[in-house]
Amino acid sequence: MIAVSAPVADPTRVRSAELTDPAVFTAHLREVLAPLRERFADGGTRHTEGDRVAAVEELRDGHTDEVARVRRFQAALFDLGVAWPSGPLDHGGLELSPRHDTVLDEVIDELDLPSREALFVGLNIVAPAVLRHGTEQLQAATLPALFRGDLVGCQLFSEPGAGSDLAGVNARAVRDGDDWVISGQKVWTSMGHLADVGEALVRTDRNVPKHAGLTMFLVDMHAPGVTVRPIRQMTGGAAFNEVFLDGVRVPDSCRIGGVGEGWKVASTSLGSERSLMSGVAGPLTPYVLERLVALVRRLEPEATAGTQAQVARTVAAVTAMRAAASLGPATWSHRLEPVCGSVLKMLMARAADEICRLALAVLGERAVVDTGDPDTFAWAEFVLGVPALHIAGGTDEIQLNVIAQRGLGLPRPRPAAS
Ligand SMILES: Cc1cc2nc3c(=O)[nH]c(=O)nc-3n(C[C@H](O)[C@H](O)[C@H](O)COP(=O)(O)OP(=O)(O)OC[C@H]3O[C@@H](n4cnc5c(N)ncnc54)[C@H](O)[C@@H]3O)c2cc1C
Repeated sequence: MIAVSAPVADPTRVRSAELTDPAVFTAHLREVLAPLRERFADGGTRHTEGDRVAAVEELRDGHTDEVARVRRFQAALFDLGVAWPSGPLDHGGLELSPRHDTVLDEVIDELDLPSREALFVGLNIVAPAVLRHGTEQLQAATLPALFRGDLVGCQLFSEPGAGSDLAGVNARAVRDGDDWVISGQKVWTSMGHLADVGEALVRTDRNVPKHAGLTMFLVDMHAPGVTVRPIRQMTGGAAFNEVFLDGVRVPDSCRIGGVGEGWKVASTSLGSERSLMSGVAGPLTPYVLERLVALVRRLEPEATAGTQAQVARTVAAVTAMRAAASLGPATWSHRLEPVCGSVLKMLMARAADEICRLALAVLGERAVVDTGDPDTFAWAEFVLGVPALHIAGGTDEIQLNVIAQRGLGLPRPRPAAS
């Protein structure tokens, strides 16, 4: 078991029936979070951290300090009882709705408080899996710790030979008494170098169809046998890694879900990841959009017809994404609800493309040459990061297959005749 004991904040301090109204919750958050602005003013926020606009997590030099600061910020949210609006009361949540989680992200962005990007995987990918499939013991040991910032999480799914074909993962776990022993290689692990726990999809049975032979574990990233090596991205950042698991012992109490049920657990994590990428906590934050508007106003006050048309396409794409992201599960049709994460992810990736086209149209050569004019060359990093949004969380092609086959019931391609 992962040895963390996190005191659960007393949520009754802030939980009241009125908070179910998102407007009341917004007002409440503005009031309780405002004093944190001064406390976290040093070190910058995404609004003040300099001349950068990024599409993917881009912690650079000093990122260890930044993550320490974000952990402290998350602990402050937890102590105020607002770190996990939709979470259960006994794990530090407020038992409100996912809409209230979005309100929290909106108010954090509005008040210019630290971005919780470094915690995205733990809070939005690992925690939903533990909450839905983990034992009560595992939930108690990890959920408050994740939402207090004591644990940073990462996702150990992809492997060099298993990305789109995720059910083909090759890392294996073998039972040994009360433990499992895991060996194999994972790759593209965002935040792996700073994580305390990793949600690892591994093979526990080679003699059954591939989806049925998988099991999910929560691995202690500091355990003997875990080696993490950074991978540099074309943006210049190095926020993801390859992870080698060499005989890593994991107690059975850290299994998430049943033996052979890893695919179901992975689907929970991936559904949450894909849905939330289109929200305020995803890459297209209100801040990015504000900077885009400011850029267009400054560089093209008399917009050409071409720019106007691109502004219209961008506004339409962003509006569609945000509108779809704000729909509750009940609003989606019976068929599309199980694949709404894929729909939302596609809308996000396409909106990111439109933003790039608009930024490049108004910047011209200033997107590739640093002229020293602030807020211009900074967009190069965003543009170079956007291809990753078509890949991370599952590629566009895979999302379209999921929507077509699982959502719309279209036929799978026939195997080619031999
Ligand atoms: C910024 C970033 C962060 C990431 N973070 C993580 C992380 O934290 N943890 C983690 O586990 N993974 C992470 N990933 C990995 C990501 O999930 C995989 O890259 C993705 O699933 C694609 O797998 P692959 O790279 O192996 O590509 P492949 O699966 O090899 O695909 C190559 C190409 O073939 C296409 N293709 C493959 N199969 C089909 C098919 N059946 N039909 C049509 N086209 C197909 C794909 O669409 C793609 O264009 C991250 C990736 C990025 C870019």
